Amino acid sequence: MRKQRRKRAKKGEPQRITKAVTHIRLTETNPGKLAALDQLAHVFLPLVQQYVILFCSDEMPDAFSAPCFPTELSERWHRVAIQQAAGIAKSWRTNRASAYQSYLDELAEYREQEADGTLEEGVKEPAWHEWDVPTVREVCIQGNCNVIKLEPSTDSCFDYWLRVSTLDKGHPLLVPVKLADYHIEALTDPKTKQRRPINSSVTLNKRDEAWWLTLSYDELVQVQTLPDAPVIGIDVGIANFITTSDGKQYGTFNGKLRERQKRDREKRRRKAKLRKCLEKKGVPQEKLPSTSSATGQRLTRHVRQSINRAVNLCYAQHDGCQFAYEQLSVASMKFKARSMNAYMRASNLGHIPEQIAWNATKRGVAATRVRSAYSSQECSRCHDVDRKNRPNQQTFCCVVCQFTTHADRNASVNIAARLHDEELRACGSRAEVKALLLRRHEQWKQKFSLVVVQAPVQLGLWASSPTSTDVG
Ligand SMILES: [Zn+2]
Repeated sequence: MRKQRRKRAKKGEPQRITKAVTHIRLTETNPGKLAALDQLAHVFLPLVQQYVILFCSDEMPDAFSAPCFPTELSERWHRVAIQQAAGIAKSWRTNRASAYQSYLDELAEYREQEADGTLEEGVKEPAWHEWDVPTVREVCIQGNCNVIKLEPSTDSCFDYWLRVSTLDKGHPLLVPVKLADYHIEALTDPKTKQRRPINSSVTLNKRDEAWWLTLSYDELVQVQTLPDAPVIGIDVGIANFITTSDGKQYGTFNGKLRERQKRDREKRRRKAKLRKCLEKKGVPQEKLPSTSSATGQRLTRHVRQSINRAVNLCYAQHDGCQFAYEQLSVASMKFKARSMNAYMRASNLGHIPEQIAWNATKRGVAATRVRSAYSSQECSRCHDVDRKNRPNQQTFCCVVCQFTTHADRNASVNIAARLHDEELRACGSRAEVKALLLRRHEQWKQKFSLVVVQAPVQLGLWASSPTSTDVG
């Protein structure tokens, strides 16, 4: 019998979120005990790698696939290896497929600009580079209760015993688990003061010569948002991480972050120069200063923290609302991130929608992704779609109706309007989206020309001149 897989929560149903409690260090009570884990990993990981290759190339990932490689592991461990490989392969396949889709979008955008004659100088035709099959590098074992059992300890100073079956059949390894205070706090339900039910699957990692345990628990979060809650559209960007359709902005890459990034870039340039210089003088490779940048990594963390703060504040200030946000493709991220340094680009921009989704789930707020195609070029008033509506990065100025506003604000209003736009949702391609928007523009023009003819009479604009203080 196959286990029922966890279904994705439908609208209105509570969402199940899994939270991890990490960094529980496995204590070595007697030396050599954990060596059995090393031996296990030594056999387990190469087997996982074999299935990863299989599931990324010849077969679709399937956790229930029949075993097909020889191993000295037990049947149960073999199944765990297949499951872990299927998980890795599945996410690799999903990421690859979405990257490929982005490439196609990018190519379509390129062809469009080529046809319009608006290609910027030096822009090359996008190319697709096939992805490599992932390599299992980290020592990581995701075990279920068939191979690793977590048992409460009642007769010792430890919290749990971890019963791990090993290569030595019939002789499970018993590893004591001692929780720190903050682990206990995380595992205690603040309402009931009871220990939360811990999921039966656990993860073991080996880092810095030590073994670490990760436990997890599930939490149910009910979506609280009412269906008729006001809709806030969110536009994602660099100059402003978040712009909402009610005209608020949260977080920015400009200012301090940009300064830090510049300093970091300078530092790396100087290092690279020094390297070249030393290389010429014949200094051996291993003695050259490294080109990897610790400050760069710190900066990335810092950008992500700023994004998290911005997203949090946005939710806090829009209590009782529901959200619509962009389904960003890599192509549109690149477009938006043009002013940003290469290594900071798309990954950080992609972190914003991720955080929007995660915050919504955690808070029980409805947030829906909507199509982003042409949301930055469409006029939110008359629906004209034109690249020329964006004279520069910040400004939106419609070439037809002259509507002028901040470019991000215009996009966020479009995004809000797309939440209940079934017609747009049904569009298959970018071209269909564009055709639909231009049809709406035609309708707007017809309606508007009627208003223009009737307005002066209806509104009595001519009669208002006596009260006017305008003396020309
Ligand atoms: Zn317009």
